[in-house]
Amino acid sequence: MLSVEEARARILARIEPLPATRVMVNDALGMVAAEDLIAPHQLPRFANSAMDGWAVRAADVLDATPDAPVTLSIIGEVRAGDPTDATVHMGTTMGIMTGAPVPRGADAVVPMEQATEAEGRVVIAAPPPPHGHIRSAGEDIEDGAVVVRVGDELGPGELAILASLGLSPVLVHHRPRVAVLVTGDELVAPETEPGAGQIRDSNTVALRTLVLEAGGEPVLLGPVADDLRAVVDALDRGASETDLVISAGGVSVGRYDFVKSAVEELGGIEFWRVAMQPGKPVVLGHVGERPFLGLPGNPVSIHVGFEQFVRPAILKLRGFRTFMRPVIRARLTGPLTKPPGRLHFVRVRLDVADGSFVATPLGPQGSHIQSSLVGCSGLALFHIEATNLATGDEVDVQVWSLPAAP
Ligand code: AMP
Ligand code: MG
Repeated sequence: MLSVEEARARILARIEPLPATRVMVNDALGMVAAEDLIAPHQLPRFANSAMDGWAVRAADVLDATPDAPVTLSIIGEVRAGDPTDATVHMGTTMGIMTGAPVPRGADAVVPMEQATEAEGRVVIAAPPPPHGHIRSAGEDIEDGAVVVRVGDELGPGELAILASLGLSPVLVHHRPRVAVLVTGDELVAPETEPGAGQIRDSNTVALRTLVLEAGGEPVLLGPVADDLRAVVDALDRGASETDLVISAGGVSVGRYDFVKSAVEELGGIEFWRVAMQPGKPVVLGHVGERPFLGLPGNPVSIHVGFEQFVRPAILKLRGFRTFMRPVIRARLTGPLTKPPGRLHFVRVRLDVADGSFVATPLGPQGSHIQSSLVGCSGLALFHIEATNLATGDEVDVQVWSLPAAP
């Protein structure tokens, strides 16, 4: 059986980032740069005041003290948004507002609060500090600097810099459309009262929201009955309008598990089964031209399988260069045992105790135990050949969310 790492490597080898498109910065949150983004000019573009105050020649006020203040005559005012055409000559000053361009001749700003104004003059009793509250041109970003690299995600901070530099629209990767096939004769909608033997479909909402959280656009294809023709039709339709096809259920050895046969009919299967728990019967294949990932139907299996394989695939389609959740070390608050042979993903809650992370397993770990996903902070890795972990042992945890500050 393939290891989780081998399976992931084989899946990612099948996936290429989607083509690029130009998007206004306002619409680009969470998208990934498809090229290095280069500053077309410096930032700030021009020297400007960091304070509301008085634009002065520093040499004029260098020796100002409360006992021997310097008096300058006011020759005008420059506001944010004004062009600069005036010049501050020796013995003069101009009022200047925050963000206004520094007039010629001036090389310092004395804050409003440190000066007294009367009858067209300003009395200054102390020299401004070095650099004199002036933001120099280019001190933030140099002309030609790379501000965002290809593969970087665009968050509010990156988008604001692109706006400042006029880099809108920006070249980003398309968002992947992900077809989600849920199968099972036993399924009814969450809002429906199940009949005898039926259960409510929870995988549709789980996979739809997991796809959304991973930055994809879900296209729902089900639930579909356990019927080969119905599964073939749904997969065929899904593959024609999306970038990736995933499924939940119907990939094991049951007499009514038709997903593998349907995928073979429409494309092919590259591997089946991965040495993991929960979620062993994972399938990699293709439906027509589209990569296909099949997960078993158990609610915890789809979550774990999504995290290990589908989310990385979506991140690669989106243009990311790294695909995995951050991993931290945490001490276990209780012991764990398992047989050797499979990597176990233990749902844990993370807390901070004495300044370091502790991980508490969230009850029984069966693949049908959905309560282990409530309040789950991530997955602790219980390695493939390990059989015992003691209280206090350190484990790697793939983090979904860290505990909030108190
Ligand atoms: P399967 O992989 O189709 O054999 O399904 C494995 C288990 O997951 C069975 O107990 C199914 O009833 C359950 N299951 C399959 N699909 C869903 C679903 N959409 N929502 C909730 N449970 C499901
Ligand atoms: Mg089934």
